[in-house]
Parts: sequence; C-alpha cells; structure tokens
Amino acid sequence: MKHQFDIAVFEGDGIGPEIMEPTVKILAEMATAGEYALNFNVVPAGAAHYAATGESLPEASMDAARNSDAILLSAMGLPSVRYEDGTEISPQIDLRKALTLFAGVRPVRIFPGQKTPLNMPEGKEVDFVLIRESTEGLFHTQGKGEVTQDEARETLLITRDISEKLFRFTFGLAKERKQQGRGPGRVTCVDKANVFRSFAFFREIFDAEAKKHPDLTADHAYVDATALWFVLKPWDFDVLVTENMFGDILSDLGAGLMGGLGVAPSADIGLEHAVFQPCHGSAPDIAGQGIANPLAMILSGAMMLDWLGVRHDNPKLVKDGTRLREAVEAVIGKGEVLTGDLGGTAGTQDAANAVVDMLGQS
Ligand code: ATP
Ligand code: MG
Repeated sequence: MKHQFDIAVFEGDGIGPEIMEPTVKILAEMATAGEYALNFNVVPAGAAHYAATGESLPEASMDAARNSDAILLSAMGLPSVRYEDGTEISPQIDLRKALTLFAGVRPVRIFPGQKTPLNMPEGKEVDFVLIRESTEGLFHTQGKGEVTQDEARETLLITRDISEKLFRFTFGLAKERKQQGRGPGRVTCVDKANVFRSFAFFREIFDAEAKKHPDLTADHAYVDATALWFVLKPWDFDVLVTENMFGDILSDLGAGLMGGLGVAPSADIGLEHAVFQPCHGSAPDIAGQGIANPLAMILSGAMMLDWLGVRHDNPKLVKDGTRLREAVEAVIGKGEVLTGDLGGTAGTQDAANAVVDMLGQS
C-alpha cells in the first residue's frame, strides 16, 4: 500500500499563492511517480484573510495544521493590513508557538555556477545548516517589552527544556548529514557566553548533549566571530545552532551569501510537527505580476520530502527530496532561466518549468 501523507497548505498573502501553485504541482507529480501519496489540503490564513473575515488564523486552519503530517507555507502578512493595536499579522509565528516548532532550519548552499557576493576559491562549495531556536531567546518578549519615558527593556529567555530539545535535534541532524556524506559531523554552538550568563547556560546544556555524541565534533563560536567567518570561510561550517535573535540575523546573512532571498528555503521543526517555508516574506511590491522567484518555495518543498522520508523511514521520499533540490540547483547553476531577483528575465512559471524539465533529465 502507498504511504499517504496529509499536507496542510497555507498559500498566504502577496506572492504566496503564485509560488505555492507550481510547488504543489511539482510535489504532486513526484508523488504520482513515487511510492507515496501526498494529499494537499489548502487552508485559509493570513493578512488578506483577516481583512476579509476578521480572523488571521481560523481555528479550523489551526486544526488542519495540527492534524497534518507536514505543513507547507508560502508567506503571510501585508504591510497594509494590521491588527487594531497596530501589530503585524503573522500567523506563521502563531503556528510556530502553538506547535512548539523550536528548531528553525536554514540551509546555506553555494555551488558551482551560483551567483554569490563571495569570492569562492576554485573547487570550494558551501553546504551548511544554521539552526535558529525559534520560540524563545530575545524574541520571547516580542511586543511585550517594557517602555517608559526614560527607558526600555526586553528580556532574553533560555529554558533548559527547549535547549535540550534543540540540541538533541541539532546533533541528530549532524549525524544524518554525516550518514548522507554531506558533512563531517561537526556542530558549532554560536553564542556570546563570554558576556552573558544566559548564553553560558545555553552552552552548558549544549556541552552536555555533545558528550552523548562521541562520533561527532562539537565546538563553540561567538556570534560576532561567526558573522566574520560566514564571509571569510563559510565552507568550513557543517551544522550551527544558536539563539533566536542571533539566528534571525545570521540567517539573512546566509541568504545574502546564497545570492538572495528568492533561493533561501527554511523549515521550522518541532517534535511532532514541521512547517516548510521560504525565508522571504510576501513581497507585496511584486505580487500579482508572475515574476516572483518560486525556487525558495520549491526548495522548502524538497526539505519537506526529506523530513517526511527520514521521519517515516521512507527512502523514496528522501531520494526525491535530494532529486528536487539538485534539480533546482542545476537550474540556478546553469543560469539560463532565472527570475529578476537573480538577474534574469524569466517569470515564475518559466522558472518552475525549468525545474520540471531538469527533473525529467535526472
Ligand atoms: P517579512 O517581514 O515578511 O520577512 P520583508 O519586509 O523582509 O518581509 P520580503 O517580502 O521578504 O520583505 O521582501 C523583501 C524584498 O525581496 C522585496 O523587494 C521583495 O520583492 C523581494 N523578494 C522577496 N521574495 C522574493 C521572491 N520569491 N522573488 C523575488 N523577489 C523577492
Ligand atoms: Mg524579512
């Protein structure tokens, strides 16, 4: 019998529906050819939905997400639509909290042919994963900081519980990458333990988890030095793990190294659930024109196949995840069909078609 997976699909706002449509089509075609079935269930949420109904994340959509095997999300939020108190509409953050998706996984890849602001030495490739804790840290007081006429304060929260889960996940991922021949099995804890006691606490918990993995290498780096190394020697990294705010900043730096947001995928992963979405937002400035780059969304779909495959012990899914990622990378590397953000003139559909053609050749 075919392995069946229910996928909740949040098409979201702005360019969201435009990049989701070809992604779902590609995934559906791969499933038809493979030994698994993906049942896509499109559910409403987002800023436009809020403007129309007064709800940004309906209970039914939340339930669909909770009951699914995986969640695909394009982008949500619009600068023109806000809650009455003026705060941003970001159901993706509500999902992250409700489903305890503590591990924000941000792969950074630079391969031959890819445009990057870096001077890549001959023969070098970049292939590392940044894991950003996504439920606490300096984002803990988001919107609830104390501000008076004379001072403002926000607090940083690091809990043992989430940190233990985060590091267990991180070392697990490093082990997987080592098995797949993608990395040496090295985990770097990025912090500022020399200045902040909370980061010394973070590091202690990291070290305790590291002791359980003698087959992997564990080390530490300060966040400022890490920013430097991202630019000077990014090919040295394998798996990095860090606090929410540091991860937020470093992941944009990582996306910049890859040539832009249009090619940067991500996943937010917890113990039971996972959301796969591009690093970029809803890009309202280019919405409705058919010119958005769909590749970050498609790469996020590839990450979903990989995650489902490992979780359900289905090698065919893992293989398809790799095939899809490699097809996207081949399109970028060839450089013939690129959207405007990558310096080309292709539209969303052209870029998606190029991926389909590339898949046909693999
Ligand atoms: P958010 O706060 O939701 O992260 P943001 O303010 O960071 O949003 P984005 O929506 O990510 O902004 O867009 C930033 C810039 O990148 C915009 O100029 C947008 O057009 C461009 N951009 C983002 N995603 C894409 C894409 N897939 N293809 C082409 N351009 C994109
Ligand atoms: Mg942004």
